[in-house]
Amino acid sequence: MSILIKNILHQNRRVDVFIENNRFTKIAPGLETAADKIIDGSQKAIVPAFYNTHCHAAMSILRGYGDDKPLFEWLREDIWPVEAKLTPADIYVASRLAILEMIKSGTVFFADMYFYGEETMRAVKEMGIRAAISLVEMDMFDPAQTMAKMEATDRFLAAENPCPERIIKGLSCHAVYTVSADLLEFAARAAEQNNLTMQIHLSETAGENNDCREKYGVSPTERLDSFGLLTPRTMLAHGVFLNKQDVKIIGSRGSFLSHNPVSNLKLNSGMFAFEDLYTHFPDKITIGTDGASSNNNLSMIESIKFASLSAKIQASSATAGKAADVFRAATSNGAAAFGLDAGEIREGALADCLLIDMNHPFMVPAYNLVSDLVYAADSACISDVVCNGCLVMENRHVDGEEEIIAEAGNLAEKIISLK
Ligand SMILES: [Zn+2]
Repeated sequence: MSILIKNILHQNRRVDVFIENNRFTKIAPGLETAADKIIDGSQKAIVPAFYNTHCHAAMSILRGYGDDKPLFEWLREDIWPVEAKLTPADIYVASRLAILEMIKSGTVFFADMYFYGEETMRAVKEMGIRAAISLVEMDMFDPAQTMAKMEATDRFLAAENPCPERIIKGLSCHAVYTVSADLLEFAARAAEQNNLTMQIHLSETAGENNDCREKYGVSPTERLDSFGLLTPRTMLAHGVFLNKQDVKIIGSRGSFLSHNPVSNLKLNSGMFAFEDLYTHFPDKITIGTDGASSNNNLSMIESIKFASLSAKIQASSATAGKAADVFRAATSNGAAAFGLDAGEIREGALADCLLIDMNHPFMVPAYNLVSDLVYAADSACISDVVCNGCLVMENRHVDGEEEIIAEAGNLAEKIISLK
């Protein structure tokens, strides 16, 4: 498969972009190359796609199911009871809804932490994007559940990866307040032995930090580090309440942070210190949406605006959270965190990109493309999405989208009937 995009705006000049198999092979003006598909880029710009580094994709089916509550109340009263009733088939339908939503808002990769990961992998394989899929380790300190989780994880890791080209199989631990020492130890060992990525919720709320100190006498960062869970393959989600010592530990271990601005604001968790952390670790700060039930969508183009605006309030400075910084966090940093040679429009890189409709009113008059993408644009400005050298959205249409929406509607009716 090859694609030639003619006369498209790329870094303030017009070029042709040739994609062969799954990589950008040539970027230059006036290419005369035969291709399976030719796209007229004269009214468009080409930019990197988004890499969502913290998500619970199938939670899209719980969008609006419970709102306007603090984190723990919301989890206990609304989310955990209904999640317990979802079947593998439900997770497949819900994952397809989430992936559709992600493609439509320019995301080509998501790091997922949920259950029935096999079903989410099936949806990812079919719909053409990338993902890091992990089963969530969470035993609520119940030894019976600890054993069950260990066995499920062993089975998940032993099973064949249905699409190694686009799917990374990894591990995740829910948080220090839901995972026992035995399970943390097991996860750390499994990640080390198999060289796996690890995702963990960390210091999302002040309550999590206080409880951890009371129970273990250390911060959540120190507790995870004591199990060897902080490595350059670790993605720490939220990191809202990190002290100087925590930041030092995370920095020395080379772990990544996933900033989830919309979820943090909606649940009133607190403000991520974007400017300070980005200044310390410009390569390590990435952006995530969290699940759609605490966001309430999976739009990275919306999240980068929130990341920038909340950084300015948090730092009391209009110069904080610069457009170029949040855009880098959401694109090349997110890709690098999961070892992907992607997130840039560059010869040799994996061919993931967005084509932007430069005639959309939000993109006019176009003095500064990155500024427009962060502060002005929304999903409707994205006309096409390429992932791994294939068009997964063309002229804002995704194959099978009508069926995905209809199936999600049927599942929502079932969920209401279970209440
Ligand atoms: Zn989360």
